[in-house]
Amino acid sequence: MAKFQAPRGTLDILPEQQPYWQWILSEARAIAGQYGFRPIEVPVFEETDVFARGVGTGTDIVEKEMYTFEDRGGRSLTLRPEFTAGIVRAYIEHGMHVLPQPVRLYSIGPVFRYEAPQAGRYRQHTQFSCECIGEADPLADFEIMSMAWDLFDRLGFTGLRFEINNIGCPACRPRYLREVLIPYLEAHRERLPKIDQERLQKNPLRVLDSKEPETQPIIAAAPVITDFLCDECRAHFDDLRHYLDLMGREYVVNPRLVRGLDYYTKTVFEVKAEGALGAQNTICAGGRYDGLVELLGGAPTPGVGFAAGIERVMLLLQEQGIQPPPLEEPVVFFVHRGQAAKDRAVQLAHTLRTAGIGTEIAFGNRSFKSQLRQAGRSSARFAAILAEGELERNEVTIKDLASGEQTTVPQEGLVAFLQACLSE
Ligand code: ATP
Ligand code: MG
Repeated sequence: MAKFQAPRGTLDILPEQQPYWQWILSEARAIAGQYGFRPIEVPVFEETDVFARGVGTGTDIVEKEMYTFEDRGGRSLTLRPEFTAGIVRAYIEHGMHVLPQPVRLYSIGPVFRYEAPQAGRYRQHTQFSCECIGEADPLADFEIMSMAWDLFDRLGFTGLRFEINNIGCPACRPRYLREVLIPYLEAHRERLPKIDQERLQKNPLRVLDSKEPETQPIIAAAPVITDFLCDECRAHFDDLRHYLDLMGREYVVNPRLVRGLDYYTKTVFEVKAEGALGAQNTICAGGRYDGLVELLGGAPTPGVGFAAGIERVMLLLQEQGIQPPPLEEPVVFFVHRGQAAKDRAVQLAHTLRTAGIGTEIAFGNRSFKSQLRQAGRSSARFAAILAEGELERNEVTIKDLASGEQTTVPQEGLVAFLQACLSE
């Protein structure tokens, strides 16, 4: 039989990489808590329309990347390609508009996109997604960006680049598109590759987001939306920049930064880390989505959020040579001789674990020497040795595996002794 492999474009995060993974997730949760975000879990799949509407037809995600299937009851379901639409669906469904606003929610979990796999680009990846729903103040945009900042600072990233833009709102963007961008792009239609000609038809703003080489000079010379913002969007952008300046956050205004999702209004931003992953150096993206709640059937409600890709964060931390703190592992390894000693070791291991001291115990009936070798290869700092002599005297011999130093300890005093050693 052929050997099984993980599906194309998916990733196993093995135990060796888990110190990174767990560290990133625990810092993300800690930051979210500090900013008043509460965790929420939403289903991994939703009715297809949640994403078709919430992400928007004409986006790459909806047109090419969704895992859509019919279940046995004939419903069209889609594996979530992002969190925002599902979280907003839950906000509306559970009447969260009656809670004090804004409602700040976050989730961490897998999302699914049928993409061309490469380093940093997978068909299942993991997002840390934060949503602040029900607040229009640009300070909310700042706080969202600030969370990303704090997270990446705490992880020790260097050379981060924050890019921001304002892509207008329903009051000013349509005019920019109709009177400025579309005529400009139409004038260069001949030189656009086919995919961007299609984008021009369906979602012209997205041409500005194109990665096609032939399109780059056309994008570079395109008139920018920031010159056509309405007063409200202009003031919003100025306010956001006021807070960024106030806090001395370094950022770059990239007037060509747009998001592939239809529901984004006003603020958009992206964070790039130094690294060799090219387009996959973007570790975080977000922005304001004042149109989304209404689009999914709720009352008009502003919102702002971001999502960070955990796999990319992990790869780039590794590339930057940043070391994660180690995961907790057993500190004691029981070595025993004879069934009576083995039984006593089982009891004492239980006592230690109950006291919060991680403990391993040798299996089988290998020789003392081989068990000690095993202890030396384990994560343990101490071997706890039980042979006939120790059993008779109700003692344990504790061997410090680094120094080789041995101490005899009464069994009743074992927990206290180890706690004292560990707190030194
Ligand atoms: P890209 O332009 O790289 O395709 P995107 O605009 O599709 O990204 P978002 O939808 O904003 O990305 O997702 C938020 C974050 O999730 C990205 O900034 C990135 O860190 C991560 N991400 C997106 N797609 C993938 C993927 N296929 N594999 C791994 N991480 C991803
Ligand atoms: Mg993408």
